[in-house]
Amino acid sequence: MNILILGSGGREHAFAWKLAQSPLCDTLFVAPGNAGTAQMATNLPISYNDFPAVTKAIRDNKIDLLIIGPEEPLVKGIVDFLRLQTGLASLRIVGPDTKGAQLEGSKDFSKQFMQRYGIPTATSKTFTVVTLQEGISYLETHSLPVVLKADGLAAGKGVIIADTLADAKTALYDMLDGQKFGDAGSKVVVEQFMRGIELSVFVLTDGTNYKILPEAKDYKRIGEADTGPNTGGMGAVSPVVFATKAFLQKVEDKVVKPTLAGLQQEGIRYQGFIFVGLMKVNGEPFVIEYNARMGDPETEVVLPRIQSDFVEMMVATAEGDLDKIAIQVSPQTAVTTVLVSGGYPGDYATGKIISELERLDDVMAFHAGTLEKDGQVLTNGGRVLAITAQANSLENAVRKSQEAARMVQFDGKQYRKDIGVDLIRYSD
Ligand code: ATP
Repeated sequence: MNILILGSGGREHAFAWKLAQSPLCDTLFVAPGNAGTAQMATNLPISYNDFPAVTKAIRDNKIDLLIIGPEEPLVKGIVDFLRLQTGLASLRIVGPDTKGAQLEGSKDFSKQFMQRYGIPTATSKTFTVVTLQEGISYLETHSLPVVLKADGLAAGKGVIIADTLADAKTALYDMLDGQKFGDAGSKVVVEQFMRGIELSVFVLTDGTNYKILPEAKDYKRIGEADTGPNTGGMGAVSPVVFATKAFLQKVEDKVVKPTLAGLQQEGIRYQGFIFVGLMKVNGEPFVIEYNARMGDPETEVVLPRIQSDFVEMMVATAEGDLDKIAIQVSPQTAVTTVLVSGGYPGDYATGKIISELERLDDVMAFHAGTLEKDGQVLTNGGRVLAITAQANSLENAVRKSQEAARMVQFDGKQYRKDIGVDLIRYSD
C-alpha cells in the first residue's frame, strides 16, 4: 500500500514511524516532512495547503491511503476538495470533511454542538461586532476570571483568560472591533472559567464505529511549574494517573457517545481522529475543546503505546471497518520531552547543528522542526525534537526521557525538566 502523510511535525514523524513498522506499508511519503521522516519515507517538497499539488502527488505516487496530520488543511477543506473536485472520490482518507472539521475550526459551532447534544462543557455565549455592546453588558454581570475565545483557528493564541472586568472588556473590543485575530475573531465565545485538571482523550472513528485511544496529558507553558507563555506543547505523558477507569467510563458515556451520535444526527460522516480536550472537575469530565486531528506532542506518547498494526487501523477508519479491529495498548508509561530553540515561543534562530542523536539508546527522537542538509541535521523550527521514553513506571519513563533530552546538543537548546513530575505523586 502507498501511503501519504501530510504534515511536518513530531506528530507526523510518529505517524510515519508507526506506519513503516507495518508489513502492509509498501511506500511511504510525507509532505513536506522533516529530517526524521526522511529516514523512513520519501519527503515531498510541497505545502499541505496547496491542494492541487497534493492532488498531483496522490496521482503521481498512486497513493492508496492519505493521512492528514495538521488542522489547517482540514479546516480549509482539503477532504471535500479531494473528494468532490478531483475525481479522487474513492481515495482512503483519514481526516474529516469540512463540516466535521468545524468541530475544531469554529468554537461557536462546537459550543452549540455540545449544547445541542447535552455534552458537558462550560456555559458560554457568542458575540459578534454587531452584538458587541450586549457582550460588554454580559461581561459586566459575569463571574471572574472569564474566558474569551476567538471563534476560528488562531494557532493556539486565540484564548484569553481575563482576571479583571477591564481586561475582559479590552479583550472583547480588541477581538471584535480591533480585529486582533482577523477573521478568526469575528465571533467571540465568552465562557465560564473552570477549575480542574486537564487531559486529552483521543477517539478514532470511521463514521459509525469508534475506538478510544490512550489518553494523554500535555504541558503547554514554556516554563517549569507551568509558568510563562503558551507554546505548541513542551511535553506529554500517557497514561494519565488521574484518568481512572471510572472517569474514562464517564468520558465515554457522557462525551464520546453523544459526540458521535451528534455527528451522525447532523449528517456528518466523520472519518478520522477526534481529540477531546477535557477538564476533570470534581471527578466529572467537561469538554474544553475538540480538535479534528491528533495532538502534538500527545501523538508522540500515544502511538508508541499502540501495539496493533497502524496501517490496518487507518485503513479500517477510512473503509468503515473499525468494528473488525481490536486495538492492543501497552501498559507501559510513555513520556516525551520537547527540545525547543532558544527564544521560543518568541523569536528564535534556525540552522543550528544537532549532534549526539546517534548516542540515544532505547528512546525515540521524533523530529519536529529539523532539516537535513549536507549530511547534517539542523534545527528548522521552534519545537525541534520530541524525545519519547517508555518504561514500566512513570518515574523511569521521566528519567529516561530527561537523560536523553540532556544528551542531545544544539546551540540554544531549551527543555522543561519537570514533564510528568507533577503526576508522580499525584493524588486527587
Ligand atoms: P489549543 O492550542 O490547545 O488548540 P485553543 O487555542 O484551541 O488551544 P482551548 O484549548 O479552547 O484553545 O483553550 C486553551 C487553554 O485555555 C486550555 O488548554 C485551558 O488551559 C484554557 N481554557 C480554555 N477554556 C477554559 C475554561 N473554560 N476554563 C478554564 N480554562 C480554560
